[in-house]
Amino acid sequence: MVRIQDVHKFFGSHHVLCGIDMTVRQGEVSVIIGPSGSGKSTLLRCINMLETISAGRIYVREDLIGFREVKGQLHDLTPKQVAVQRRDIGMVFQRFNLFPHRTALQNIIEAPTQVKRVSKTSARTKAMELLDRVGLADHANHYPAQLSGGQQQRVAIARALAMEPELMLFDEPTSALDPELVGDVLNVMKDLAKSGMTMIVVTHEIGFAREVGDTLTFMDAGVVVESGDPRELIANPQHARTQEFLSRVL
Ligand code: ADP
Ligand code: MG
Repeated sequence: MVRIQDVHKFFGSHHVLCGIDMTVRQGEVSVIIGPSGSGKSTLLRCINMLETISAGRIYVREDLIGFREVKGQLHDLTPKQVAVQRRDIGMVFQRFNLFPHRTALQNIIEAPTQVKRVSKTSARTKAMELLDRVGLADHANHYPAQLSGGQQQRVAIARALAMEPELMLFDEPTSALDPELVGDVLNVMKDLAKSGMTMIVVTHEIGFAREVGDTLTFMDAGVVVESGDPRELIANPQHARTQEFLSRVL
């Protein structure tokens, strides 16, 4: 589903991603951990074209992400082509960034009606199903300010799912939440994983990685230090940097 090949990213002279290789199969949950500043968010943002990569290739299904390749030469995409590629990739951020002046339901139907031109009626029906799925059917008409952080994040997940993505990216989705609200969000993500969604999840929730992850990747300073079966990697990290990081978060 996702192939990341020798991806580099520079911000000016700052080399933030230094040759990342990663593969995520359909239906897999790939968990990424690593210290702050190691490039995790940048990698997700490159997959979702919020950033363009400096070198390498990213493919989602068979599509080269961010560029058109003609006879070995890369050309930038038009904004329309970017929008088409991004449509199939859902992203959930640390900060839920819902539209504050719209209800939960309105937040969810926004993209399907505006971008996909789905009718309001069927977008609403679908949105209610999704709210039910994230345990918030009775909060459809609440505004973000009337919801807890955990509820807002579950609305944000429902909003991403409303576009029927084939890949979901999560960037520390529980890091901004009070501890007692983390479990509900993780449960929604577990259900989503069980339903067969392909997911890349940046998180410090090692329990989630162990329980739900198919692979666990440890990044540091823009490189993949090690990657493998989550239970094995957590129990038996091969590199000193991984050991040191895990000893801090476990
Ligand atoms: P992580 O998510 O692992 O904490 P990030 O991907 O956010 O790491 O950041 C990796 C590095 O890239 C950091 O040093 C950060 O300061 C830098 N960085 C991220 N985004 C930008 C940007 N838009 N412009 C310049 N530097 C950036
Ligand atoms: Mg980050």
